[in-house]
Amino acid sequence: MAKLKIYTFPDPILAQKALPVARVDASFFRLADDMLETMYDAPGIGLAANQVGLLQRIVVVDTDFEMEELPEGISPPAGSEVVGGALITGKNPRVLINPEIILQEGTITLEEGCLSVPEYTAEVRRAEKIKVQYLNLDGLTKTMSADGLLAVCIQHEMDHLDGKLFIDRLSPVKKDFAKKRLRKERAEREELDRLKMVALTKGSGIPSSSSKTKKKGI
Ligand SMILES: [Zn+2]
Repeated sequence: MAKLKIYTFPDPILAQKALPVARVDASFFRLADDMLETMYDAPGIGLAANQVGLLQRIVVVDTDFEMEELPEGISPPAGSEVVGGALITGKNPRVLINPEIILQEGTITLEEGCLSVPEYTAEVRRAEKIKVQYLNLDGLTKTMSADGLLAVCIQHEMDHLDGKLFIDRLSPVKKDFAKKRLRKERAEREELDRLKMVALTKGSGIPSSSSKTKKKGI
């Protein structure tokens, strides 16, 4: 398993539509594993392929697991799983390929966040109950019903596959405000990283990785 890079707003891949998976082959087991590892590590309750730079209609979700910080000096029970210093229990990972909502009912408003929209949350209204048809990792057509948080999570991830973020569902004024703030914060983070890099490489003889040598395409 490998942890993947999570793309954040305003990366253009987050605004692109993912393509349907034509054939589910064995490589999807690895991809789903990597996406789940990335999601748990973040930690998050859902992740769509766009967020890790792939334009394929695949999402992973788990709204059931629990994480508990391990107190210093305490070793985890045998056989338990530790991610980023926290004990993780009650995993219930689901992988949905080419998901489609075939039924929806009611409305629910929950506060949402997103691994691709760091440090920002807002209330979003969605369907309260859904029925989804999808392919599983064996390439078989399945359906599942979901309500509450799981239904919201699946709808949020499916929006990603259509190039839509939860902030795109806010009112025009709120959306504009959120996007301006997020762009500003990202620029500040990048500037801070650049300064750290300069401080690290100054006088050490190591060339800064910020030197721009672009790789040529074939
Ligand atoms: Zn998201």
